[in-house]
Formats: sequence, structure tokens, C-alpha cells
Amino acid sequence: MKVLVTVKRAVDHNVKVRVKSDHSGVELDNVKMSINPFCEIAVEEAVRLKEKGIATEIVAVSVGPAAAQEQLRTALAIGADRAILVETTGTPGALAVAKLLKAVVEREAPQLVLLGKQAIDSDNNQTGQMLAALTNWPQGTFASSVDVDVDVDAQRVTVTREVDGGLQTVTLRLPAVVTADLRLNEPRYTTLPSIMKAKKKPFETLAASALGVCVGTTLETLRVEPPAERKGGVKVTSVAQLVDKLKTEAKVI
Ligand code: AMP
Repeated sequence: MKVLVTVKRAVDHNVKVRVKSDHSGVELDNVKMSINPFCEIAVEEAVRLKEKGIATEIVAVSVGPAAAQEQLRTALAIGADRAILVETTGTPGALAVAKLLKAVVEREAPQLVLLGKQAIDSDNNQTGQMLAALTNWPQGTFASSVDVDVDVDAQRVTVTREVDGGLQTVTLRLPAVVTADLRLNEPRYTTLPSIMKAKKKPFETLAASALGVCVGTTLETLRVEPPAERKGGVKVTSVAQLVDKLKTEAKVI
């Protein structure tokens, strides 16, 4: 079974993001970029499927600038077999990414597409759902477990989904789209030998235009604001003072 796994280049989750002085976006110059954490979980899951003998080939795909090859190399070091970079200038929106991924899906014909549930930079949580709609494939989003049954008759994947207030288990006929949630697995660390090996794995770069997809955006970012600064706390000396402050200052009781 061929598995396609998507990898987005995003600001490293440890970086304290700064908004640009003109409020047009966040500062990306000299900022550490990494593989989006949920995509790393998706890659790990694909590799585990290969280790179980279920996946036969793992293709990692990223849509983005040439620099995204760094994150694809990480995916290869985790265990993907080959990588495809769909090179774009600028950052296409979720719908454009989903359309480009659909074009890659048509070329590669995977049985399973694994994505992260969300990119931590844009917080869209849309791409997997849009890809499922465009391909007309079933979707299992927010997966905390993925169980593939590749019997000849019943090619299915059972996905446990993290939903509000509990877990929902669904079964999807393959080919299907699954998006990874945080508790799906804990990605392995890459080792020096795996990083060296990754350098020799097949790597293809495609121009977005070669896939016949219009990546123009219909969405314009008007302004980006940092979150409001947290005010320091105060210490109270008695319950009476606390109640008084809650009544007169915070006005919550
Ligand atoms: P989003 O819908 O933007 O929150 O992203 C959800 C998931 O879609 C991410 O975790 C990725 O797996 C995938 N994705 C989004 N944008 C890209 C991209 N530019 N390249 C590859 N995968 C992407």
C-alpha cells in the first residue's frame, strides 16, 4: 500500500513569534523553521505502517518554497522513501494547497493520504478536509489511532477520532484521507545515519504551474496583531480582600 504524507514548513514551535512592525504578518527572517509538529506525527505513523508491513512505499510531499526541502529531508530521515516538493512562490492558501495535493494524488495514486490535523502557523485545520472533498475520498480527521485492514476484500482503515467529550471510531474504505492528532504517536528522533541516508533518497521538485492548478488566493490578510500582553498578578492578604477585588476591580461576581 502506497502512503502519501504531507509535510508543511512552519515556524519552529519553540520560537516566540514576533509580529512584523507593519502588521502584515509574522517575522520570518532568521527564524528557525521546522516540520509542522502534526505533520511529523503523520510521517511517524506512515513509517510505523511500513514497519508493520502494511505500507510498501511512503512518499512525502510539501507545497512551498525551495527551502521546504529541508523539512522533506527530515521526513526522509524519519523514514519516508522519497519526496516531492511542489515549489511555489509565496504561501498558497489551504484551498490551493489542497488542489495541488489532489494533483499529486492523481499522479501517485496512493491508498492512504496522511496529513497533520492542523498547521501551527496558520491554524487553518482545512487542508485534509478540502483534499477529501476534492478527491471524493472518505476522511478520518483528528486521528488518535489508525488501524489499516488490507485484506483483499475489505481494504479499510479504522480511525479513532478525538472529538469533543470523547473518542469516535470510524471505518473508512480505502483510498482515504486521515489527519493526525497529537496523541497518535510520539515521533522518533532522527539519527545521524538516518540523516545521511536521507540525502541519497529520491527527491523530485515540481513547479506548481506544471500541475495545472491556479494557486492564486482569494483571501487577503488585512492585519496581524500579537496577543494582548498578560498583566502581572497581585497577591491578596485575605479572602475578604480577594472577594472585594473580584467584585470591584474584576467585576466578575
Ligand atoms: P492546515 O489546514 O493549513 O491547518 O494544515 C493541515 C495539514 O495539511 C498540515 O498539517 C499539513 O499536513 C497539510 N498542509 C498544509 N499546508 C501544506 C503545505 N504547504 N505543504 C504540505 N502540506 C501542507
